[in-house]
Amino acid sequence: MAEEFGQGTKCVQGGYRPGNGEPRQVPIVQSTTFKYETSEAMGRLFDLEDSGYFYTRLQNPTNDAVAAKIAELEGGTAAMLTSSGQAANFFALFNICENGSHIVASSSIYGGTFNLIAVTMAKMGITATFVEPDCSEEELNAAFQENTRAVFGETIANPALTVLDIEKFAKAAHAHGVPLIVDNTFPTPVNCQPIKWGADIVTHSTTKYMDGHGAGVGGAIVDSGNFDWMANAEKYPGLCQPDDSYHGIVYAEKFGKEGAFITKATSQLMRDFGSIQSPQNAFLLNLGLESLHVRMARHVENGQAMAEYLSKHPKIERVSYPGLESDPFYPLAQKYLPKGGCGVVSFEIKGGRAAAEAFMKELKIAAIETHVADARTCCLNPATSTHRQMTDEQLAAAGIPAGLVRLSCGLEDAADLIADVERALEAVS
Ligand SMILES: *Cc1c(COP(=O)(O)O)cnc(C)c1O
Repeated sequence: MAEEFGQGTKCVQGGYRPGNGEPRQVPIVQSTTFKYETSEAMGRLFDLEDSGYFYTRLQNPTNDAVAAKIAELEGGTAAMLTSSGQAANFFALFNICENGSHIVASSSIYGGTFNLIAVTMAKMGITATFVEPDCSEEELNAAFQENTRAVFGETIANPALTVLDIEKFAKAAHAHGVPLIVDNTFPTPVNCQPIKWGADIVTHSTTKYMDGHGAGVGGAIVDSGNFDWMANAEKYPGLCQPDDSYHGIVYAEKFGKEGAFITKATSQLMRDFGSIQSPQNAFLLNLGLESLHVRMARHVENGQAMAEYLSKHPKIERVSYPGLESDPFYPLAQKYLPKGGCGVVSFEIKGGRAAAEAFMKELKIAAIETHVADARTCCLNPATSTHRQMTDEQLAAAGIPAGLVRLSCGLEDAADLIADVERALEAVS
């Protein structure tokens, strides 16, 4: 869809353009395989000489239509869907890293991604240096090594709600000849387009706001088409040297800056690891995308109202929400998220773990869930759930006080959400 259309129009109509008499809604192509008249025609697909479908583990028309919409929303040249956000971040990194590579990553990222980089990828011989998201340019540059192949961060971190200075991270990455990968799950391209600020690759857990209804786990990777792999060919042999598993194709030569990254991730990683999103889930994801721009505005409105209410409450020690003027990340939010960030607010209740438990037990609208970014408001106390194996001292050291509650404001009426929280706080002694 042409660049001049707004994000709302792209949310509704991007990616899929039916011809005369074709279905108005993206069809679910519920087929594992595709039929050909000659072996020669299929052979051309295997050689990547023609584009087309042959097996849904690699590509499926439903997924491609939805991926194309996400590419348009992010302002990228190519995109792919994956089975989860975890698969998206793994593929984005592993597409350009191998045994002996090194990653520079913000320390303020989703726990699953931290584990992926710090533990699981370390077992593959890929090491990492973590930097604070608000580190100085000197500290950031000092984290690079001769074998660094990627820089990684989250636009708004889950759950810390820090805001990434995308331009600063992109500048450092490019000065060292490597791309910046940004996980844009929380703001979505409705509230921030990291590519406009210099990010090269954008990833998503579509499980969150993009789906928005808690219906399907999924992920996406978008390529900006801006990073010049060939100019840094010695760093990226997988893109710039012949691929033996594809008759010596050189991806960066054959598909250019615009197509090499996603073609390689599809034809190698999806082929070998097989983490495709099911076409059924891609269809549900597309329904979510059709209202993303309308929903994000309401999530932000509810998150902002909740953060302001909580910041004045005597039983609340501290509120993190980059839309609050008192928040240390407010200036970066003003720059990168002028329409607001997301509906997730985190706050610390006075009285620690017991107070948080008592508070959450009293909530009637907000449900206790290991989830965020849903139409229905939900909450979590890390100390008694995801981080329950840690002592209060360990929690404090990790920046997760025992009384911390992560509240994901849904699409309900703000007045009802605030009344629910008010009543529950009254029950806390
Ligand atoms: C949830 C999440 C992930 C992981 O996504 P899944 O779809 O659960 O695999 C990655 N990054 C961020 C920022 C997330 O919030």
